[in-house]
Amino acid sequence: MKTISKSSFIRGTKCPKSLWLHFFQPEERDEISEGQQNIFDTGHDVGTWAQKLFPGGIDASRGEHEKVSEAIEYTQELIKNGQTVIYEAAFGDGETLCYMDILVKENGEWRAYEVKASTGIKDYHKMDAAFQYYVITQSGLALADIFLVHINNQYVRHGEIDVQQLFTIVPVTDTILPMQDSIPDQLISLQEMLDAGIVPNIEMGYRCTHPYNCDFIDFCTTHHTFDPIPDTHTSSIEHPASSIRNQDELNKFKDELNYPLYFMDFETIFPAIPLHDESRPYQQIPFQYSLHIIKNSEVAKRRNSEIIQHHYFLGSPSADPRPAFIESLLRHVGSSGSIIVWNKTFEMSRLREIARDFPVYQDRIEELLERVVDLMVPFRKKHLYTAEMNGSYSLKAVLPALVSDLSYSDLEIQEGGSASLTYESLYFDNDPESVAKKREDLLKYCELDTLSMVRILERL
Ligand code: SF4
Repeated sequence: MKTISKSSFIRGTKCPKSLWLHFFQPEERDEISEGQQNIFDTGHDVGTWAQKLFPGGIDASRGEHEKVSEAIEYTQELIKNGQTVIYEAAFGDGETLCYMDILVKENGEWRAYEVKASTGIKDYHKMDAAFQYYVITQSGLALADIFLVHINNQYVRHGEIDVQQLFTIVPVTDTILPMQDSIPDQLISLQEMLDAGIVPNIEMGYRCTHPYNCDFIDFCTTHHTFDPIPDTHTSSIEHPASSIRNQDELNKFKDELNYPLYFMDFETIFPAIPLHDESRPYQQIPFQYSLHIIKNSEVAKRRNSEIIQHHYFLGSPSADPRPAFIESLLRHVGSSGSIIVWNKTFEMSRLREIARDFPVYQDRIEELLERVVDLMVPFRKKHLYTAEMNGSYSLKAVLPALVSDLSYSDLEIQEGGSASLTYESLYFDNDPESVAKKREDLLKYCELDTLSMVRILERL
């Protein structure tokens, strides 16, 4: 018999085949990307912060109690000895297992708190809580209530983190009680499936990517036929059969540009726990920009990268990067001329947020917003398309299709997510050599984003 933990239960109810592979062919799991690892780490950080809601607890799982059976015994011991706040309280009977994030005894009654790093509650979180409640009460501990604790994305940091404001606590007992009756049957059917000795025959489909990606997608894609998986890529379009160039539309786009041309790109981090005052959980905080400037049409015609001006800003984790970022940007972006970006919603939203959080810059930011032009539009509208773009109008797809001598492939950092993680890692990096290398990588990456736009515009 396999021990079904909370995550195995959720996995098995989403797709029995995924649970089977998890137990019997774990080596087939997709490689964990840097971004996914970051999601796990974020969950861990958020859990540690949530413990501060109920200070003074004892962690039942860590240190010398790493083994499951020891953690279960230790939890029972803590309960017996009158401990009223327990973190990672472990329960199980061999068939099931759960770790409760926070268990609290108040007025003689036990209450359980399951922490989520998300900014709201999803249906599968309720399933989580239902399973936790089942395992804990089956172990003989009566629970008066169970709660989901999630991040409150309306919280704005002022000074020290206020954990009472950072989290929202939602009672879910009434929602999960009616789910209790079906759990024993679900456990039996999962155990029967695991005992059968053959991988369940399940076709790929919606469940593979919703509400989150399964970690066996590569395995199932290469080994089986499947229903089409809905494409969730935001910047994809239908694949036109062949190349398209609508020069009239491209000329119209270019005629609307005003010199000097400013090619602008931002990089951001979005920490779950706000790092600086006047910022909210998961708010995108710009820490870097790159700006290429073409003064006039003569410079543009000469196509000489040497005489194209370049400015940049890269913050340091010791301070909130935003004030210095916007000061520097406003200094270099002048008072007239088109500001060219790729996907203007992103850069414009970040500028509006700075105007909201630092109202002293509001008027100048509003003037700047009037000048923003989106170079992605001619590609989104298919005024220019080649098969090499592979149905996408992202900068990373358009660049190699139009400009053969510029490429991200030689860079250490090749996409925005990796840039965010690199900058976040600077907060904990004390090695000057490694810091210098990371800063250099960040500068190269962001500079290539704006230089790419310069070169793409030439091709219109
Ligand atoms: S990829 Fe889809 S079918 Fe395969 S195990 Fe995951 S959820 Fe199941």
